[in-house]
Amino acid sequence: MKVAVIGAGYAGMVAANRVAKKIKGAEITVINPRPDFVERVRLHQQIAATKQVATPLREILPGRVRTLVTTVDTIGDGVVRLAGGESAGFDFAFLAVGSTVRPLPGTLAVGEWESAERARTVLAAMPADGVVTVIGGGPTGIETASEIAAARPDLDVRLVGTAVAETFTGRARQRILDGLERLGVAIVNDGVAAAEPGSVRLRSGQEERSDLTLWAIVSGVPDLAARSGLAVDDSGRVIVDDFLRSVTDPRIFAVGDCAAVPGSRFACQCSVPQGGHAADNLARIVAGKSPARFSMRFVGRGVSLGRKDAVVQLTRRDDTLRDGYLAAKVAVAAKEAATRGASFGARTGFGGSW
Ligand SMILES: Cc1cc2nc3c(=O)[nH]c(=O)nc-3n(C[C@H](O)[C@H](O)[C@H](O)COP(=O)(O)OP(=O)(O)OC[C@H]3O[C@@H](n4cnc5c(N)ncnc54)[C@H](O)[C@@H]3O)c2cc1C
Repeated sequence: MKVAVIGAGYAGMVAANRVAKKIKGAEITVINPRPDFVERVRLHQQIAATKQVATPLREILPGRVRTLVTTVDTIGDGVVRLAGGESAGFDFAFLAVGSTVRPLPGTLAVGEWESAERARTVLAAMPADGVVTVIGGGPTGIETASEIAAARPDLDVRLVGTAVAETFTGRARQRILDGLERLGVAIVNDGVAAAEPGSVRLRSGQEERSDLTLWAIVSGVPDLAARSGLAVDDSGRVIVDDFLRSVTDPRIFAVGDCAAVPGSRFACQCSVPQGGHAADNLARIVAGKSPARFSMRFVGRGVSLGRKDAVVQLTRRDDTLRDGYLAAKVAVAAKEAATRGASFGARTGFGGSW
């Protein structure tokens, strides 16, 4: 039985490792544009040089799993067509291509390995008093601005956004703003209209110096599924049934950011359980059993503020916010445990099935 895994992020890696463990004799091929698993949730650390976040796929996939370093152009009719014009047949596939960034020209995206690497090089060479502008007031922007400010207190770090930390409740949000202030991050309540080498123009018309401008906003998903004729929602995510299979083609499981799983959002805490659950469902189907329904379950939303501070807002199972939150050391420990847990799931195939 041939199994194709498209995308070696959290969802794809959990699925590939889990299928290798559970389905004896499955011929598994993992297709990814680069030969490494990138811990995307730590890309801000890659930029600030507080962690190395890429691991060769060969070190964390069993020897019998084949890897192809390329991109998939289309999928359908039991075939994936590759960028080079070649194709590979499959009996079952896991579509796990994640989400995309569309950075403003003149900025470097935090959410992609190649641009994060360029940002790391620029930052490493930046002399004291350099100005770093981070665009985006969501968790990725907050984590990036604070990671850089904590690692390089000699720099002037600015976070530009009109609604900083708005996905957190009043008290947790205030704690995040206080944490940013303690690290010396200046919050600029505005948007960026244009970026050029050495400067940014704010929407208010003001021109500001910026030696490195980072784009910390995730915008959508790859158009691979739509291009291939799979049913997608308004944002291009694959519409799946209760068992995480494309409603167009039940041989294709869609998992992670690229899948429209009810109750999910762009998060590795969604991608890991989905990848594991879909792999388990394939194992059930191969064993002649019925697949199991998937339901998403949340416990919290964490945001790191450098390596020594963090805030974790507690949530209900359906991701609505509770009043309570954790902060400081206990939140750092909780956030780090969740991040390590996701990476462990991707590397081993364990965990992640609720
Ligand atoms: C800085 C940062 C911090 C974050 N922090 C958190 C956090 O604290 N908690 C949390 O839950 N989430 C966090 N996220 C979000 C999280 O990283 C994503 O939701 C998660 O990575 C999605 O996992 P995935 O497996 O669906 O996709 P990804 O991890 O994005 O992996 C997708 C893979 O598919 C590959 N691919 C794309 N197109 C193709 C193609 N055509 N052919 C083959 N391969 C392809 C990509 O190159 C990539 O390797 C953060 C994101 C960023 C950028």
